[in-house]
Amino acid sequence: MYKNCPCCGSTEKRNTNVSGVFKCSCGAIYGECNKAEADQFVGSKWYKGQCEAPEYVDLIIDGSRFHGWVEPATKKIVQVG
Ligand SMILES: [Zn+2]
Repeated sequence: MYKNCPCCGSTEKRNTNVSGVFKCSCGAIYGECNKAEADQFVGSKWYKGQCEAPEYVDLIIDGSRFHGWVEPATKKIVQVG
């Protein structure tokens, strides 16, 4: 589904430990995986407060898309969309 990074458009990417999910040189995480695999990239809780350097995540999780920003250390959701 993703030919290039949905955040910056680059095709330069590294593999993550989930096949089908990649990390772009801009830091964005994108690809397709299932819910269990997605847990390491996106948490289920909201981040509270100001996040200085959120990480862009764009994943097709079990067929439905999540895209937004997470706090890199905790993977808590900063913003959806
Ligand atoms: Zn990118």
